[in-house]
Amino acid sequence: MHHDARKLENNSVIEGDICIVGAGTAGISIALDWLGTNKKVILLEGGGFEYDNDVQDLYAGTTSGQKYYPLKSTRLHYFGGTTGHWAGMCAPYDPIDFQKRDWVPSSGWPITREQLDPYYAKAHDTLKLGPYQYELKDWQDEIPDLIPFPLDEKVVWNKVWQFSEARFNALYAEDVKKANNVHLYTYANVTDIRGNEDLTQIQEVEVHNHAGKTHMVRASQFVLACGAIQNARLLLASRSQATQGLGNDHDLVGRYFMEHLEHASAELWLFKHNPTKLYVWGSDTVVRAELAITDALQKETQILNGTVSLFPLTLGRNLNSEMDLWNNEDPRKSAENFWNDIANARAEAAKITEGSISRAFTLHTRIEQAPNPNSRVTLLQEKDALGVPKINLHWNLTDLDKRSIRTIYQLLGHQMGLAGLGRVRLNEFLRDENDNTWPKDLNAGWHHMGTTRMNDSPTEGVVDSNCQIHGISNLYVAGSGCYTTSGAANPTLTLVALSLRLSDYLKGKI
Ligand SMILES: Cc1cc2nc3c(=O)[nH]c(=O)nc-3n(C[C@H](O)[C@H](O)[C@H](O)COP(=O)(O)OP(=O)(O)OC[C@H]3O[C@@H](n4cnc5c(N)ncnc54)[C@H](O)[C@@H]3O)c2cc1C
Repeated sequence: MHHDARKLENNSVIEGDICIVGAGTAGISIALDWLGTNKKVILLEGGGFEYDNDVQDLYAGTTSGQKYYPLKSTRLHYFGGTTGHWAGMCAPYDPIDFQKRDWVPSSGWPITREQLDPYYAKAHDTLKLGPYQYELKDWQDEIPDLIPFPLDEKVVWNKVWQFSEARFNALYAEDVKKANNVHLYTYANVTDIRGNEDLTQIQEVEVHNHAGKTHMVRASQFVLACGAIQNARLLLASRSQATQGLGNDHDLVGRYFMEHLEHASAELWLFKHNPTKLYVWGSDTVVRAELAITDALQKETQILNGTVSLFPLTLGRNLNSEMDLWNNEDPRKSAENFWNDIANARAEAAKITEGSISRAFTLHTRIEQAPNPNSRVTLLQEKDALGVPKINLHWNLTDLDKRSIRTIYQLLGHQMGLAGLGRVRLNEFLRDENDNTWPKDLNAGWHHMGTTRMNDSPTEGVVDSNCQIHGISNLYVAGSGCYTTSGAANPTLTLVALSLRLSDYLKGKI
């Protein structure tokens, strides 16, 4: 059922069993899981069904530290959320990503990959992915020419990826509108969260819109699903009862912001032609692999988890930095710049190679960022049009991040040489072991993680293993803000799996 909050009588009171704030990737995944139940679900969405610049402008903020994209354009503020812009690259996190690693400060989730497996399988349905299988051998039966490089499997393995084309706006708007028990309110921006006197339970959230209407929403359970940056902002900005914000008794909300570092960091020159269909994107790609370092070698060399993907050199050298391309405050214009650049690079590459795949490749890093309390979201004095303080994102990297990238290419280069396959040439910024600076064209994956991190202890994390905010019995966070560490793979498959796990938990609770 759909209601436009701009058209409701001012000061309406909306009541339900569960209130989900944000109808994006996480919020819709949970709402769909409740379709047809006897519970009344209130789904609050700040935007409408289409892009609206006034609403999008609520995301505007400042950045400091390592150069980052304009905050206004890294997320989409309407029904369907950022699935409207995502590239759909999916892979589950590796078991090691959840483990406590002595060499990675503040690592170790309170849940394991095994506990998430059933929800990963379910998330595949939500994201319209193929079967939940990520072992290369399972795919080789179907696609025999997926042939891996003959590298030592004790050092390098092949991490398989799948691709989703799910855009939640087009895919799920009708299902939500038709549902009797899910009540979607568009133009319903949550601006404040209020609880009982000792703040152990949330009672209501306040909703505002540009039409000047204010409403109250009451429910027995509340789930924040506004994206990692906005969830932290909302908690920090809900200061009417706690000066430091909600769930922030230990000054953790907004800290440990993590991204995936993405960068063209090296080149691979093969001695002779080798099959590369497994690694290189093509028009018929169903699955693809990236080269990854085994758990044992990560431990031995004390590095973060990361992968390497291959682009034909003729294409890779013609691609511009995403940090330079995604520079417009309007996300639609930034996306256009980005896709045009890929089209131009492809056209240039086609002129040189005439469509054939060469023996030379650019090697692109995708790596987790080490948890770092100084990488953080904070409130500014300035407020948005609905009266909520804007934010600053201070993106801060560590030496471990850079050393890990360098080591990955050193290991890969060594293995390529040992196997007699070719040579790896490190780009300038990695060559001097004492140089801890970052190149200007360092990219991030538009992946926001860690701002409401998960830990069983309230002094180390904002949410517990059920994504419940410590100390507040009915307030939950859905999304990648809950990640304790950021893993090497893109975050959305894991985010949907974690949201479905939370949904299951809530079903048991209500
Ligand atoms: C260009 C690009 C490419 C990407 N490619 C990939 C990829 O290949 N693979 C991958 O895994 N990930 C990718 N991502 C990241 C992916 O899009 C995000 O991980 C995912 O969409 C985040 O889901 P979410 O539900 O947390 O946030 P969103 O999907 O952004 O949803 C948040 C929702 O909350 C609403 N909202 C916000 N604030 C409020 C409020 N105060 N009140 C009410 N509603 C509110 C918003 O309107 C929105 O609908 C990409 C992102 C971008 C930008």
